[in-house]
Order: sequence, then structure tokens, then C-alpha cells
Amino acid sequence: MKHLVIAGGGFAGFWSAMSAVRQATELGKRDMLKITLINRDEYLGLRPRFYEADLRGTRVPLGNWLTPLGIDLVIGEIGSAVPASRHIRLVGGPDISYDQLILATGSRQTYPDSVGPGHLFSADTFEESAALDQHLRALTATGFPTPASRTFVVVGGGLTGLEIVTALPSRLERLAPSIPGFAFHLIERAPEIGLGYAPDARRHIVKRLQHLGITMHTGQDELRHEKDRLILAGNQQLSAKTVIVATGFTASPLAATFRGPRDDLGRLAVDAFLRLPEHPEVLAAGDVSLAKTDPDHYAVMSCQHAMPQGRTAGHNAVRLLFNEDPIPYAQPRYRTCLDLGPGDALVTAGWERRVKTIGPEAKAIKTEILTQWICPPADIVNTLAMAAPVIAS
Ligand SMILES: Cc1cc2nc3c(=O)[nH]c(=O)nc-3n(C[C@H](O)[C@H](O)[C@H](O)COP(=O)(O)OP(=O)(O)OC[C@H]3O[C@@H](n4cnc5c(N)ncnc54)[C@H](O)[C@@H]3O)c2cc1C
Repeated sequence: MKHLVIAGGGFAGFWSAMSAVRQATELGKRDMLKITLINRDEYLGLRPRFYEADLRGTRVPLGNWLTPLGIDLVIGEIGSAVPASRHIRLVGGPDISYDQLILATGSRQTYPDSVGPGHLFSADTFEESAALDQHLRALTATGFPTPASRTFVVVGGGLTGLEIVTALPSRLERLAPSIPGFAFHLIERAPEIGLGYAPDARRHIVKRLQHLGITMHTGQDELRHEKDRLILAGNQQLSAKTVIVATGFTASPLAATFRGPRDDLGRLAVDAFLRLPEHPEVLAAGDVSLAKTDPDHYAVMSCQHAMPQGRTAGHNAVRLLFNEDPIPYAQPRYRTCLDLGPGDALVTAGWERRVKTIGPEAKAIKTEILTQWICPPADIVNTLAMAAPVIAS
């Protein structure tokens, strides 16, 4: 019996597991393969939805798929991996040994040195998003008595920060329709908002922020945060009881357990088959993996890349265990879809991130992504059909 262990039950880990079952069945080896997935809780967390006001349905129980497929689900915190003896150490034990490992422990929020993490919020995990929701409800219960309680600041103007900040005005309006005078601020280190986008997309983003009454502060590379107060460049001060950080992600610290090159986000370089060059019995997929999508580009931390990488990693792990050739990962098409609040979104095409669609049409695409594309189908047969490592070109 071979043992495939999947560390992490997010998008990459979940789809690795589905793809591994699929490939093992196709090879006629399912009864010779034990699959274990380890995750810190029992859910597949749909992270791109964690900025939403209503968190119901933003995570789904892994057991709904793993149990019927005979995959062992171990709930626990992975403390470290010991590649030399091929085992995973759970905090509080036991150790779990593997023949092949898929590392899919994702990423986590980073905080600039001067900002946090104390007294700050984020939309990084379900728990943090639930804490933000609770905080907003507690403020609502007090009736927002001070300017600081009516001021909302998002630090970080990347994709996540933009989605959080553009959702806030309508979220507050729903919570407290009779309270006037909410203020919304977006703080960005770069000299312009949306620098990762092409000029046409950037213009749309800025126009939208202006339309929603969000004040933009750019070139803010030396922030300081004290309780209920953010100090910006030029000693400008914002009193705010709600500061939400969205300043980017770094790879799970477990990546540091393995030898081999890493980028400055801590992601492990992988070969074309998603293996670690110095540990061929380990594959890495999702936010923890530095994988090339085509000869000129690396994948970004996104579901768009984590899900197909998971499907490829699960497929390849099984093939390697049974001495079959693995297949290369490639994903030449690159799109982004940015939520910009009620009735608007921005779909871009290509690595330059040029506008493809905006407005209600783009919003409909975003809704479809959030409610369908990133959610596994409820039935097992369809899920396994979707687990094939076929990538749209
Ligand atoms: C607010 C927000 C909005 C986003 N919007 C988008 C978007 O619009 N489009 C897009 O493509 N991407 C978006 N992303 C990014 C996307 O969610 C990630 O790229 C994606 O989740 C990566 O998948 P993954 O499986 O690699 O990691 P994750 O989804 O992070 O899953 C990792 C799993 O491993 C588990 N884990 C980690 N460490 C341990 C440990 N030590 N022990 C046990 N378990 C562990 C975690 O609990 C988790 O279940 C967004 C992210 C956020 C936070």
C-alpha cells in the first residue's frame, strides 16, 4: 500500500485529493493507495468570499467529498515536515509518514512592520472575517457615536484591498441605514492605485472609488498604527476604530522546511511537474508553489492557479507513486476578475491586465465565479469529472 499525504485542504489540497482519486481509479490502483488529507479545520474555506458581509456558505465541509471517496481526513495543525524521514509532524502528535507528499498549505496575511497585527482586522481567514463582522455589529449596536467609529480604513490597494473597500459602503448602509457620515479611506504604498493593472483598468478602478466616496491616500510607505489611530505620511492622522489590513500574502511557513530556491513571497520553486527539485517525493501546489504557467510567467497567488495546480499535483503524485510518467503543468490564459461593489466589477485579460469587461456584465461573471466556479459541485461524480487536469488554453 502506498501513502499519499496532502498537507492543506484549501483549493490546491482539495483538488489534489479529487484528482488523486480519479487518477488512481483510472490506473486500477485505488485499492493500493491510501490518501490522507490534513487540514487545521474540517472546511474548504472559499477565501475569495471572505470579504462578503454574509459569511454563510463561504466554507464547505471537506468530509462531504472525502468521506464517500475513502480519503482519510485528519484535523490538526501541521507543526513541521521532516523530509529526510518523509513524515509530517502534527502539533501534539502523531507523526504521519508518506511515500509522496503534496504541500498545499497556502498563504497567510502579511503585516507591514509598523502596522499591526494588534487591533487590526483582515479578510484572510474565516475566523478573521467573522471577527470583523462581529466588530461591525458591535459598532452598529452602539449607534456609531464618534467620528472614529464611523471611519473605516483599508490598508493595501491590491486586489483584496480593493474588493474589501468597495464592499464597505453598501455593507454599512445595510447595517445602519439611518446613520449618515460614514467615511472610507484606502491607503496604498505605491504612488498610484491599481499599479498592477493596465491604464484603462486603472482609470476604471479610480473612477469607481471616487464614485463610492472612498478617499485614496497613495505613496504611504511609512504608516504607523496606534490604538484607533493611523498615522500617515506628513503626520496626517486618521482616527478609526476599524482598520482592515490587505497588504499581501506570504507562503505558509511550512515551505521553509524544504530545501530549494524560494521567491520573496516564500514560495517554493517547482519543476514543470510541480515537484520540488531537491525533494522529488514532494509536490507543491497553490499559494505555496512558485510554478511557471508559461515560459514567461509565474503563477500568482490565486484560485485560478491553485485549483489547476492541485488537479495536476494529485494526478502526478499518483502517477509517480506507480512509476508512470507525470504530466507538465501549464496555464497560458490569464484573467482577473475584481469585485468593485454593487453593480460593478472589472474583468481583465492577459498579463498586462487590460479591461475586458466592466459594469453589470463583469459583476455577473464575478458572482458566477464566487458562487459556482470556486465551489466544488455537490455531487461526487461531477466533482471527479471536474478533477481532470485539463487546463483551458
Ligand atoms: C479576501 C480574499 C480575496 C481573494 N480574492 C481572490 C480572487 O478574487 N480571485 C482569486 O483567484 N484568488 C483570490 N484570493 C486568493 C485565493 O483565495 C488564494 O490564492 C487561494 O485560496 C490559494 O489556495 P491554496 O489552496 O493554495 O491555499 P488556501 O486556500 O490558503 O488553503 C490552505 C489550507 O491549508 C490549511 N493549512 C495551512 N497551514 C496549515 C497547517 N500548518 N496545518 C494544517 N493546515 C494548514 C489552511 O487552513 C487551508 O485550509 C483571495 C484571497 C482572500 C483572502
